[in-house]
Amino acid sequence: MKKITVFKGDGIGPEITDAVLKILEAAKAPLEYEVFRVGLDEYEENGALIPEAAFASFEANKVLLKSPITTPIGKGFRSLNVTLREKYDLYANIRPAKSNTAVVTPFPDVDIVTFRENTEDLYVGVEEQIDADTVHATKIITRRASTRIITDAFEYARAQGRKKVTCVHKANILKKSDGLFLSIFKEIAEKYPDIQADDRIVDAVCMQLVMKPQQFDILVMPNLYGDIVSDLTSGLIGGLGLLPSSNLGRDHAMFEAVHGSAPDIAGKNIANPTAFLWSACMMLEYLGEMEAAARIRRAVDQVLAESEHKTPDLGGRATTTEYRDAIIAHL
Ligand code: ATP
Repeated sequence: MKKITVFKGDGIGPEITDAVLKILEAAKAPLEYEVFRVGLDEYEENGALIPEAAFASFEANKVLLKSPITTPIGKGFRSLNVTLREKYDLYANIRPAKSNTAVVTPFPDVDIVTFRENTEDLYVGVEEQIDADTVHATKIITRRASTRIITDAFEYARAQGRKKVTCVHKANILKKSDGLFLSIFKEIAEKYPDIQADDRIVDAVCMQLVMKPQQFDILVMPNLYGDIVSDLTSGLIGGLGLLPSSNLGRDHAMFEAVHGSAPDIAGKNIANPTAFLWSACMMLEYLGEMEAAARIRRAVDQVLAESEHKTPDLGGRATTTEYRDAIIAHL
C-alpha cells in the first residue's frame, strides 16, 4: 500500500475531496491516506494555512493530492500554490485537455497537453513601486528552468507516442527573455528528430485554439502564458470542472484540479469533482497503478454518457454526491 498525503482545502475543496476519496476507495486503489485540513478554517483556529504536520506528511510521502485552497486577499499572504511549487520545486505543470464524447462542445476532437513552467517568469512576484504612478514587475527566464520543462515535454511526447511539440512565446517583443526560452526549445528539438517541433506567438495560438484546436498536440511555454492558455483549453473541452493537472518535481509530485475553490458554489453540493478525480487518476498512473486509474476513467465515461448524472456546470441537474454515487455504482 502506498501512503499519500491529501489536503482538503477551502470552498468546494472539502466536497470534491470527499467525493474523490470515496471513489478511490470503491475502485480499490491500493492507497493509504493522510488527510489534512488546510486553508482558511485551519488558519483561523491554529494560525497557519498549512499546518507543519501536513508539510511533514508530504515530505515523507512525496505524493500529494491537493484540493483548492483560497489565498486570503489583503493579509500579506503569498499564494499557497506558488509556495508549494517553490518549496518542493514542482517545476512541471502538466494539464491534459481531452474532449469527452459525452460533453457537447463545438470541438469533439481536442487532445492537447499543456506543459507550463511552474517556478519563474512573472510568478516570481518581484514588483517594485517606482513612484506613485509607476510599478515595475520582473520576468525571470533561466536556461536551467527552461531546459527541464522543454525536455520533459519532448520526453512525454516520445513516451506517449505523440507527434508534435509547439513552443508558445512572445519572442518578437520579449526578445531576450522569451527569446532565450525559444532558442533553448530549438536546441532541444534537434535531439528529438522523431517529434515534430514548431513555435507560435502566444496571441496567435489563442486565436488558432478557438478556431482549429485540432492542429495542436503538446504545448510548452513559460509560466504566465501557461496559466492563461491552459484555462482556454479547459473551455474547449467543457470548462474548468474537467481540467486536471500534475505538478512534478524531481522528488515530489502534487496533483490538483486546475480550478480554484469556487466560493460562489461552495457548500451547495453542486461542484463538479471530475477535474479533481482525473487528477487522482494521473496520480495513480504516476504511481504505476494503471488498472485502478483505468477503472475510474471508464466509470466516469459511462456516467457522463448517461446524462441524468451530470452536474449543473455540464448542463445537468445532479448533485456532487449523486454524481459520485453513480460513479461508485459503475465501479
Ligand atoms: P483562482 O483564482 O483560485 O483560480 P477563481 O475564483 O479565479 O479561482 P475558480 O474558483 O477556478 O476561479 O472558478 C471560477 C468559476 O468557475 C467558479 O466561480 C465556479 O462558478 C466555476 N467552477 C470552477 N470549478 C468548478 C467545479 N469544479 N465545478 C463547477 N463549477 C466550477
